[in-house]
Amino acid sequence: MPFLHALCRSWARHGPQIYTIARWGRVARDGGGWTAIAPRRCLNGDMKAVIATAAGGPEVLELTDLPEPVAGPGQVVVKVAAAGVNFIDTYRRSGVYKMDYPHVVGVEGSGHVVAVGPEVDGINEGDAVAWAEGPGSYAEYVAVNAEKLLPMPEGMNLQAAAALPLQGMTAHYLCRSTYPVSQSTVALVHAAAGGVGGLLTQLITSHGGRVIATAGTQEKAELAKSYGASDALVYSEIPDLATELPRIIRVLAGDGVDVVFDGVGKATFDASLASLRIRGTMVLFGGASGQVPPFDLQRLNSGGSLFITRPTLVHYTLTRQETLWRAGEVLGAAASGELRVPIGATFPLADAAQAHQALESRQTTGKVLLIV
Ligand code: NDP
Repeated sequence: MPFLHALCRSWARHGPQIYTIARWGRVARDGGGWTAIAPRRCLNGDMKAVIATAAGGPEVLELTDLPEPVAGPGQVVVKVAAAGVNFIDTYRRSGVYKMDYPHVVGVEGSGHVVAVGPEVDGINEGDAVAWAEGPGSYAEYVAVNAEKLLPMPEGMNLQAAAALPLQGMTAHYLCRSTYPVSQSTVALVHAAAGGVGGLLTQLITSHGGRVIATAGTQEKAELAKSYGASDALVYSEIPDLATELPRIIRVLAGDGVDVVFDGVGKATFDASLASLRIRGTMVLFGGASGQVPPFDLQRLNSGGSLFITRPTLVHYTLTRQETLWRAGEVLGAAASGELRVPIGATFPLADAAQAHQALESRQTTGKVLLIV
């Protein structure tokens, strides 16, 4: 409908140009099918977008009309097909991360290029692209810096492409760079049925490592096992997690795990530290349950000369080359079928608030997408 709407508006404004559009209206390949893409002259009218009106819960998200973006130098405008829903969107919406309000929510997605700005080489209108760093992606159109675009493998559909950039590259840097796993690695992965957790479990096990997973329900634990975890613990059913989880881990893995990948944060942090072997590594990469409060460095000493890091994706995609390496491996593995891309839930753009609600209340598994 937005496409028809844009056509009608163009007709009203420009009269005969509608014939040009009708004759030259363009289509682009989307995996198995064909998708109509808006011709360039339809840009710069209004579009639907989801804004966060103020810092707060999902109720501050609002579908509104905004002017379509213009491709500045080094940028392209993309007609969004699907936008990824990520925890970072909720941190920015809620005020955990400092933001201006209102702002258009979202950073990730996939779609077709409909306008190419000056100083952009090698990208053409009609190209199918994906991205992890495109602020304002919960919208019909978004301007993305061309250097942030990720080429899509031949035949990959746009939903899978929107599901992978952020969580896939995160899983990649965690187990290839932050703590490079090997065949002897035993890792504890929390929330292993989730977006990052599911991909991370698959990547670690595909490199020969062993994953002991945690998950909130038995059903999620089964899912984690299907990604390759050797064991999956329902941590929500373990009383006194900080004491009990390390004990269970030592039954399963002797002296403790080599590394913990913890994106749950506040609720699991103490249990994670206590589950490590001497000189083990704590990778705290998020706070789905809340942010970890300041902590006493002496705990690393008494815990066994432990290492701790709090990494973030932007510092692991510093150069174009590094970004293309990570994206190429993850998208390539998905395209070849080696990596499953579980899309747990899709919502229409207008239901972004419900999508945030579902993600934040642990109702989802895998990737959550907004279909635009
Ligand atoms: P998920 O799909 O993993 O969803 C979060 C999961 O965390 C839930 O499904 C739930 O799984 C678990 N969880 C446990 N306690 C809570 C709680 N109190 N509230 C909500 N969820 C809880 O999300 P993502 O894969 O998108 O993100 C996972 C983490 O990774 C987040 O902390 C995110 O910020 C972080 N992240 C970090 C990046 C980085 O570069 N540092 C980049 C991308 C994401 P269960 O029910 O099984 O417990």
